[in-house]
Amino acid sequence: MDILIVGAGFSGAVIARELAEAGHRPTVIDGRDHVAGNCHTARDPGTGVMVHVYGPHIFHTDDAEVWDYVNAHTPFRPYRHSVRTTVRNRVYSLPLNLLTINQFFGQTLRPDEARAYVEARADTSISEPANFEEQALRFVGPEMYEAFFKGYTEKQWGVDPRELPASILKRLPLRFSYDDNYFAHRFQGIPGAGYTALIESILDHPAIDVHVSTLFQPEMTDRYGHVFWSGPLDGFFGYAHGRLGYRTLDFERFEGTGDWQGCAVMNYGDRDVPWTRITEHRHFAPWESPEGSVLYREFSRACGPDDIPYYPIRLVEEKALLAEYADRAARTEGVTFVGRLGTYRYLDMDVTIRDALDTARAFLDRAPGAAMPAFVTPPL
Ligand SMILES: Cc1cc2nc3c(=O)[nH]c(=O)nc-3n(C[C@H](O)[C@H](O)[C@H](O)COP(=O)(O)OP(=O)(O)OC[C@H]3O[C@@H](n4cnc5c(N)ncnc54)[C@H](O)[C@@H]3O)c2cc1C
Repeated sequence: MDILIVGAGFSGAVIARELAEAGHRPTVIDGRDHVAGNCHTARDPGTGVMVHVYGPHIFHTDDAEVWDYVNAHTPFRPYRHSVRTTVRNRVYSLPLNLLTINQFFGQTLRPDEARAYVEARADTSISEPANFEEQALRFVGPEMYEAFFKGYTEKQWGVDPRELPASILKRLPLRFSYDDNYFAHRFQGIPGAGYTALIESILDHPAIDVHVSTLFQPEMTDRYGHVFWSGPLDGFFGYAHGRLGYRTLDFERFEGTGDWQGCAVMNYGDRDVPWTRITEHRHFAPWESPEGSVLYREFSRACGPDDIPYYPIRLVEEKALLAEYADRAARTEGVTFVGRLGTYRYLDMDVTIRDALDTARAFLDRAPGAAMPAFVTPPL
């Protein structure tokens, strides 16, 4: 069957590879002039630093099949993610851990003492946190909420934390140990040759035809038996019901010499510092030692029609609109919506690959003549 895959990020590349291995001849198109989607990495010509062009990407997973899959294409190098935050002119360790608690409160607490200390500050009158702020107050109390969560969250999401669901904070760990490894997964690393080399390797199969700088045109669907769409869900329907809300990012690039900030990511929690964080790209390849350094100051704002959509907002209003698009997609034959944009979800890379493998297998294993669903993983 002639198959069109829109988007050459992890979603499109993995689906293309699985279908090609099974004997299909998929065509992959991407509107950008490179493959790898938002995970694209490129060596900076001036400094030689490998830059994560659309923001820092650290691979971490508990999924052994996905870990083996990516390593079979490009060996990963060990990497341990290190994040700090600057708040009120002081630097603290993240994610919140025993060192953060001791630094912040000027204490020398052991784990059990720290647990009791934080619990004494937590607002225990909140039994069912209704929003992000209440969840934070229940978890860590007002002092740490104000310092570490309030300003950062306002900048990142552009809304009052009381308008955000409590579930966002449920994902942020509070550790009563000195473990400051940002991720708690079994496997963690960064592809030695960069993510673009990894995705080029996935796409490198004689049956896969890749065209970059090629935007999807609606009439293309007539030429293909099936389309896998990893572009924006609302974009496929010409934004007919309105636009799903996203946050976009602006990166202000600057250079330094040597190790400029001493860690990969420095957050800025204060509301009056306009950027959310500074990332220093040389730290994402600790096995290299360039002389220069490339850094991004990162600013978050509402996504306009010409901006790159980064983070889906998924508040009540967006979910209602998402339900309309999901319903329309379910009534559209011959198209399967995949990936972070196609299903309007925040997806880490490992989950994206897992979903793409499951989608390709659902396509290949379906009964003869059976229709392929619009979503293998429902967006709601
Ligand atoms: C700032 C940021 C940091 C992140 N950091 C991490 C991290 O540290 N670890 C982690 O695991 N995950 C991270 N992620 C998530 C990661 O970026 C995603 O998992 C991954 O990009 C999803 O791949 P995808 O193929 O679904 O989407 P994308 O990578 O966005 O690929 C979709 C592709 O479709 C193309 N496209 C869209 N519309 C059209 C069209 N009309 N015609 C042709 N082409 C089109 C786009 O150009 C794009 O290349 C991060 C995400 C963000 C936003």
